[in-house]
Amino acid sequence: MKRLAPVDAVIVGGGWNGLLMASELTRRTGLSVVVLERGEARKTQDYAAGMDELDYGIRLRMMQAIRDETVTLRHQTRERALPIRQYGSFLPGSGVGGAGEHWSGISYRYQPRDFRLLSHLCEKYGARSLPPDHALADWPVTYDELEPYYDRTEKMMGVSGKAGNLRGKRIEGGNIFEGPRSAEYPTPPMKSPYLAALFGEAARKLGYHPYPLPAATTSVDYTNPDGVSRAGCSFCGYCERFGCMIGAKSQPTNTLMPLLRGKKKFELRAGAWVRRIIAKDGQAQGVNYVDSKGEEVFQPATMVFLASWTLNNTRLLLLSQIGEPYDPASGKGVVGRGLTHQVSTAAATAFFDKPLNRFMGAGSAGTAIGDFDGDAFDHAEANFLGGGTLYTVCYGFRPMANFGVVPASVRSRWGREWKKSALEFYDRTGRISFYGEHLAYRQNYMDLDPTYKDHLGDPLLRLTLDWQDNERRMASFMSGKAVEIARAMGAQEITRFPGLGRYDTTRYQSTHLQGGAIMGANETESVVNWYLQHWRVPNLFVLGASAFPQNPSGNPTLTAVALTYRTADAVIDRYLKHPGTLV
Ligand SMILES: Cc1cc2nc3c(=O)[nH]c(=O)nc-3n(C[C@H](O)[C@H](O)[C@H](O)COP(=O)(O)OP(=O)(O)OC[C@H]3O[C@@H](n4cnc5c(N)ncnc54)[C@H](O)[C@@H]3O)c2cc1C
Ligand code: SF4
Repeated sequence: MKRLAPVDAVIVGGGWNGLLMASELTRRTGLSVVVLERGEARKTQDYAAGMDELDYGIRLRMMQAIRDETVTLRHQTRERALPIRQYGSFLPGSGVGGAGEHWSGISYRYQPRDFRLLSHLCEKYGARSLPPDHALADWPVTYDELEPYYDRTEKMMGVSGKAGNLRGKRIEGGNIFEGPRSAEYPTPPMKSPYLAALFGEAARKLGYHPYPLPAATTSVDYTNPDGVSRAGCSFCGYCERFGCMIGAKSQPTNTLMPLLRGKKKFELRAGAWVRRIIAKDGQAQGVNYVDSKGEEVFQPATMVFLASWTLNNTRLLLLSQIGEPYDPASGKGVVGRGLTHQVSTAAATAFFDKPLNRFMGAGSAGTAIGDFDGDAFDHAEANFLGGGTLYTVCYGFRPMANFGVVPASVRSRWGREWKKSALEFYDRTGRISFYGEHLAYRQNYMDLDPTYKDHLGDPLLRLTLDWQDNERRMASFMSGKAVEIARAMGAQEITRFPGLGRYDTTRYQSTHLQGGAIMGANETESVVNWYLQHWRVPNLFVLGASAFPQNPSGNPTLTAVALTYRTADAVIDRYLKHPGTLV
């Protein structure tokens, strides 16, 4: 194995979290920093002529190659897990910028109650209301502590939106259910597409509180505090699953890479597939990886940052035998514990008698209501805990993926009648979507698969994951609410979401997976402390949503990146002066 010269910091993964840590360390210290990214190199110009739906949207050009590595899945421990051989329920990113290149950019802050969920639910509903098999935990950080980092992240990304709670003052037109913000969004809300406007009017008529989706797609030309300028969005519609050709969508390549390019002490190695973190006597020594030519390399480093996304962070810790693997039978062990996804459904599909101009849009241009999020509503009529957001996003209907949805009254599923109806309804179909909380359960977790291996011969990650009744009831309740709104929007016909059933790997449900290396108050219940520092290996930091003890309803990236800023401050201001466990 080739041994390289040591560096101060090695970062595994070149997505939002890895490149943000690289940028903070490189710009604020004199440290040498290497990012190892197993995917390809990328830059904004690569997207200038790349709006090929088949290549990007259907064949998933920007995602991790499933032939090299996938995961196995089973619903329960007594089943045998099988490999996922075709992407469906989530889409792991790969290449410089990671999933942050082809994300939609919907950028939520979590609510104050989300950070103390276990205590909150016990206080409000009593401990006996919790599912007996839950594995809920409070976060070791509060909303107020994270607020300045949310603000920093929104300014760095140029998030557009409208505040609904400015320093405690509720403001109609914004999300009045959000936690107090210290500042307005850095850019004004995105323009409202027609369907989103219909949703907003109907929701208001029904007494709800619609607001524009917070979007990391800048609504106007914007220069962030780092001096990086980006253009306003042109609503091209080729956004989610694509990189933005004009740089309006905040992506690591257009927001962080401009700060890193040409810096002498920074190096980004694409095609570097990390296989192990090497640790001895409670100290990380560096990482082993296979480079783009297939050579085995050891990169020694004084600090290791793992930023390879939820599933890969967990797998690398398990492969490296760092920390005790979680055992659902005894409840002991921590690595792999607390796997959550997000309850994400097409709550109601509505068919209209007029065109909706769905071909225009952006990944996060839309309208939402928070009236059914968290505890914003009276749970007396609901037989579940928690909640989520109902929304309409006009991401830009594409000719292949979005063609062929017809109402139930169209009897034929092929031939002339179907074709005629599919053409008629292509631009007359709207969707009210829902995303909601996924509680942590003892039986949902990750470990190494005993049978299946990746292309290098390392065991695949095994997911043991299923929905429970809380999520099923929530999805069904929210579909009922979505149908009411669709009616008020003037829909002629409505298809209701059929129900969650078992966890289904074929239906896309967001790439928002959490857990596996959760943060907590002590090492018996968590992998990292609230600085995302490994409890037992203090020069190892595990960044990203793998640290979330459970999934609050909103999308995770803003919170994950805010936490990375927090970690960067703690490392730079304190850890470098006194290496050891941060308190
Ligand atoms: C289609 C889509 C839409 C989305 N929309 C939203 C949204 O609207 N809002 C939101 O909040 N989130 C959204 N997300 C999720 C969001 O993109 C992710 O939460 C975020 O990008 C994660 O950042 P990360 O840095 O933690 O991980 P990633 O972006 O996944 O980066 C990790 C990197 O590590 C690399 N890597 C993995 N293993 C190794 C290894 N062994 N060696 C070397 N490198 C490795 C990967 O190749 C990858 O580039 C979306 C995701 C997708 C796919
Ligand atoms: S819709 Fe806007 S942000 Fe999205 S890719 Fe097109 S121009 Fe970029």
